[in-house]
Amino acid sequence: ANGGGGAARLEKILVSVRLRPLSDKETAKGDQAEWECINDTTIISRSTFPDRPTAPTAYSFDRVFRSDCNTKEVYEEGAKAVALSVVSGINSSVFAYGQTSSGKTYTMTGITEHTAADIYDYIAKHEERAFVLKFSAIEIYNEVVRDLLTAESTSLRLWDDAEKGTYVENLTEVILRDSHHLKELISVCEAQRRTGETYLNENSSRSHQILKLTIESSAREFVGKDKSTTLVASVNFVDLAGSERASQALSAGTRLKEGCHINRSLLTLGTVIRKLRNGHIPYRDSKLTRILQPSLGGNARTAIICTMSPARSHMEQSRNTLLFASCAK
Ligand code: ADP
Ligand code: MG
Repeated sequence: ANGGGGAARLEKILVSVRLRPLSDKETAKGDQAEWECINDTTIISRSTFPDRPTAPTAYSFDRVFRSDCNTKEVYEEGAKAVALSVVSGINSSVFAYGQTSSGKTYTMTGITEHTAADIYDYIAKHEERAFVLKFSAIEIYNEVVRDLLTAESTSLRLWDDAEKGTYVENLTEVILRDSHHLKELISVCEAQRRTGETYLNENSSRSHQILKLTIESSAREFVGKDKSTTLVASVNFVDLAGSERASQALSAGTRLKEGCHINRSLLTLGTVIRKLRNGHIPYRDSKLTRILQPSLGGNARTAIICTMSPARSHMEQSRNTLLFASCAK
């Protein structure tokens, strides 16, 4: 585990923060931008916290993205190196963490599409290998796992298999034709997520969404002959439940089953991320971490993009987000 500089870099979690612009609604309310990126790695709050004069006002990460950065830049600097490791057979996960309406879905959808486009570029340049790209999508709500590519809202079971590890039973997996096909499927997932909301009378801020791209590749001369030479790896794009769920549930007590469960996946994820480089990792404590285990820790690579509103009215939640991000460094 303590290899040279290169190995250490590979083990490191890439942590970045993306500030979105003030929304029209925030501007209309007279809200002001409290946070500012002063360079590529440091974000500061313009004022101190009245109730906590000693709390730091500057936070540094691998990368911080100003509100005028586009998603392509966020992808290039904050996710690409991690996400594209799948083409070399290395599993990875990219997370969006942050309070509801901070830009998680906006960021993660773009990153998923940019990754797929780059994977197809790579495939086009490597004609000596044959590639198959597969896509699946789930939502985890209340520790219940649902397929986002089918209209049924049945709860799917998790199984442990000696060879496959933990997997989701009966999950739809679609072979992708091209990156346009992926966009279509992402729309299907968005529609499913909305249907689920109506059905459950809830909203997407309470559920985790995982989009998964799996790449299988083998040298052309071995196609259909020797399975053992096939490389298989996955990249997971994880759009987490609103992070306010974790702090609300922690502070207000957990009467609601829902609060408990959302809390469990978010909090377990927090613990897992803090312990990735040392300590006993409690993967089995939540469905989210069970499902992601092959893509977390070990040789797998991880990027976390923490999204934030710059608004003064969200200052406390944003600070919680920065504290989470600091723990992940
Ligand atoms: P979340 O998934 O965290 O709840 P969304 O991704 O849905 O938040 O973003 C909330 C709103 O803000 C959406 O209307 C989205 O289009 C917009 N938005 C988010 N991030 C940005 C950004 N970086 N630039 C412009 N608009 C953004
Ligand atoms: Mg969202």
